[in-house]
Amino acid sequence: MKTTELYETYLLSNYAPAPLTLVRGEGSRVWDDAGRSYLDFCSGIAVDILGHTHPHWVKSVQQQVSTLVHASNLFRNELQGKLAQRLVEKAGPGKMLFCNSGTEANEALLKLARLHGRRKSGGQEGVAYQVIVAAKAFHGRTFGGMAATPQDKIQNGFRPMLDGFAVGTLNDLASFEKLISDQTAAVLVEAVQGEGGLAVASPDFLRGLRALCDKHNALLMFDEIQCGMGRTGKYFAFQHAGVRADAFSLAKGLAGGFPMGAIWVGAPHADLFTPGSHGTTFGGNPLACSAAHAVLDVLESEKLVENLSARAATWRAALQETIAAFPQKVKELRGLGFLTGIALTGPVADTVAALREEGLLTVPAGDNVIRLLPPLTVSDADLAESAAILGRVLAK
Ligand SMILES: *Cc1c(COP(=O)(O)O)cnc(C)c1O
Repeated sequence: MKTTELYETYLLSNYAPAPLTLVRGEGSRVWDDAGRSYLDFCSGIAVDILGHTHPHWVKSVQQQVSTLVHASNLFRNELQGKLAQRLVEKAGPGKMLFCNSGTEANEALLKLARLHGRRKSGGQEGVAYQVIVAAKAFHGRTFGGMAATPQDKIQNGFRPMLDGFAVGTLNDLASFEKLISDQTAAVLVEAVQGEGGLAVASPDFLRGLRALCDKHNALLMFDEIQCGMGRTGKYFAFQHAGVRADAFSLAKGLAGGFPMGAIWVGAPHADLFTPGSHGTTFGGNPLACSAAHAVLDVLESEKLVENLSARAATWRAALQETIAAFPQKVKELRGLGFLTGIALTGPVADTVAALREEGLLTVPAGDNVIRLLPPLTVSDADLAESAAILGRVLAK
């Protein structure tokens, strides 16, 4: 059977994959089953942060595969302890919990919020359990993540949603102020909205949320699943605003292609989870940790995060120049660093397909934005090529 037929016969139709079967990757490029290569600025949706088959990542994972893959959290493993240490050193005083995906990391944040709400109400459950999120946010597909994602296309068919979510407007502090109360356990936002179309939360807005949360004893939680791990030029995107987080979630780029999620919880709240209150069988196993260590090794040794903002500025200037010639087709450049979006004046599906045909893989964000997510290891030549391909496609 051909892959297309296997998909039609044996896989549930919850995805609508592009007509492309990938077989191999190296650096910023992937190859399809006909031997054609593509510049991969999809990066597995911001996951392949070191590009494909980075030699150090491959070596670390290969070595760990033949040493110890999984033993569960009934026992300690040094790699998990050391990974937590490295992340805490970047995030600030606090503690880590590891899991296996983004939505699962957000579930852990939502459970943390409930525990904080109970503490806030003097030990009483079911009083302060509200979580305020932003319109157009995306926080995942499980019941918690879905309830935190105020979008019809995500929630349709699955109602009733989990109770206790309120929706403010990104960069409109007054809209959050109106909602926050004694019943609020937490505010959860993305510093740069990934799926929602690459809107960037302004530093002033994030500082305002910090003050609101302090006033009402609510946790300020960030979803760093897409914008974290250096993609915007800081290890965590909320750090651009210089605000303190109470907790945040990670996944996508964390282990460079190995499924892994995590939450960081600030020191004052790190005692909310106690033995038995949360857990996962696979979370933080030695193999996943070895992959994440390899990501941090390369980010650090190649100074990829330190140099990102300057490199991204050159690239974004080239993109800006390219799109300026097509005001009838392109609205604006969005995002931050290597989390970049091109907002079109209409639907993007045809343009995404045309870019693919010209050899550039991208990801739609919402209906009108094309996301360009180069690996952090991308060369300047590949960045320049992406702008050239975009120019060719827009000119058609
Ligand atoms: C991808 C994503 C998620 C969900 O992660 P999964 O690993 O797909 O469950 C949650 N929040 C944000 C911001 C994301 O980009």
